[in-house]
Amino acid sequence: MPDIASNISYIKSQLPSTVKLVAVSKTKPVSDIIEAYNKGQRYFGENRVQELLNKKDLLPKDIEWHLIGHLQSNKVKYIVSFIGMIQSVDSYKLLITVNTEAIKIERVVDCLLQIHIATEETKFGFPMHDLCENLQSFNISGLRNIRICGVMGMATFTSDTNQVKKEFGYLRDCFQSLKDSYFRSSTYFKEISMGMSGDYELALKEGSTMVRIGSLIFGERNSIQ
Ligand SMILES: *Cc1c(COP(=O)(O)O)cnc(C)c1O
Repeated sequence: MPDIASNISYIKSQLPSTVKLVAVSKTKPVSDIIEAYNKGQRYFGENRVQELLNKKDLLPKDIEWHLIGHLQSNKVKYIVSFIGMIQSVDSYKLLITVNTEAIKIERVVDCLLQIHIATEETKFGFPMHDLCENLQSFNISGLRNIRICGVMGMATFTSDTNQVKKEFGYLRDCFQSLKDSYFRSSTYFKEISMGMSGDYELALKEGSTMVRIGSLIFGERNSIQ
């Protein structure tokens, strides 16, 4: 059994105080989340809407939930009322849907733009050139009920640390160039969510402000997702 409490204190001791730890609890039971909660952890990440809905009603209300997995537009309505941050916004269509659903309930929803930085084709995210070419005409500042708080990315799953470092450096550069071009006057655009159990140390060196860590806290997952 992983010692969840001491795993959290170990990871926290490795993080600069300005870096946010999102504990990724996907596939893990509510009892594990409670253990982390009792250790003071308040940010949790889930990648599936249904699983998130099943769990959140059984857990304390002051948990801040982050959606980190691909989100279908037709599911936005189920999470918009409570989600703390949607880290995995990967299309213009989704931006519009989140804004539309948020207007209905008079909420402003924090989002990150997920950017495709890995060599694997299976990972979701905007290609950076798409944002460079289309964000301007898309008129993102017109979407009053979303707040773009930064970027998120997943590096290639590889033991080649140079490759991973390069991809994280690229995401940091993307962040900076988006900030310079579109979000210069925004006080919200400040997060670079990168780094998981296997690569968070590299991500910190490349300027991560938010790490998403699952197996290092809760132990290995049985199913692959
Ligand atoms: C599962 C997942 C994580 C956490 O992965 P670990 O390797 O268990 O730390 C982080 N980010 C995303 C988007 C994930 O899907």
